[in-house]
Amino acid sequence: MGNDKKKAVFLDRDGVINRETGEYVFEPENFEINEGVFDAMTALRDAGFILIVISNQGGIGKGLYTHSHVEKIHNKLKQMLSLHNLELAEIYYCPHYPSSGKCLCRKPGSLLVEKAIARFNIDPSLSFMIGDKESDTEAALRAGVKGILINANESILNYIDIITNGNGKA
Ligand SMILES: [Mg+2]
Ligand SMILES: [Zn+2]
Repeated sequence: MGNDKKKAVFLDRDGVINRETGEYVFEPENFEINEGVFDAMTALRDAGFILIVISNQGGIGKGLYTHSHVEKIHNKLKQMLSLHNLELAEIYYCPHYPSSGKCLCRKPGSLLVEKAIARFNIDPSLSFMIGDKESDTEAALRAGVKGILINANESILNYIDIITNGNGKA
C-alpha cells in the first residue's frame, strides 16, 4: 500500500567519500576518508536514504590497475563503514576509459544510476547525487535525480540539510 519506493543518495567516490589526490587511487593505503563522511552518511541513513556509490574507475580501462585493486579498496571502505554501523546498498563503478571503447556507464552516462534505480526500486525525484564534477551531476540529471556539486574533498556534512529538506539543485 502507498508508495514503497525508496529514496537514495548517490555518492561519487573520489573527492567525495575519499581524498581526491589528483592521481588514481588504487592502493588501500592511499584511500583516505574525507572529513565528515561518517557523520553525513549517518544523518542520511537516519533520514531514510539508502546510500549508493557510483564511481568512474577509468584507470582500469587505461590498464593502470585492475578490478581486484578496486575490490580491495571497496572492501576496506565497507569495513570502515561497518565500524560506524553504516552500509552501502551497492557500489557501482565503470571500468572503461573512452579511448578503450565507448560505454554508457561512465559518468556523465546515467546507466549505473538507472541500474540502481531499477534494482532498489528508487524514486529518482526523491533522490540526490553528491559529486565533485559536472559529470556527476550531469549523470544524476539524466536519471531524474537532483545533483549536488561540491568542491573536491569538501565535507559533505555541509549539504545534509539541503538533502533532508529536499531542496537540491535539479
Ligand atoms: Mg570525484
Ligand atoms: Zn563504462
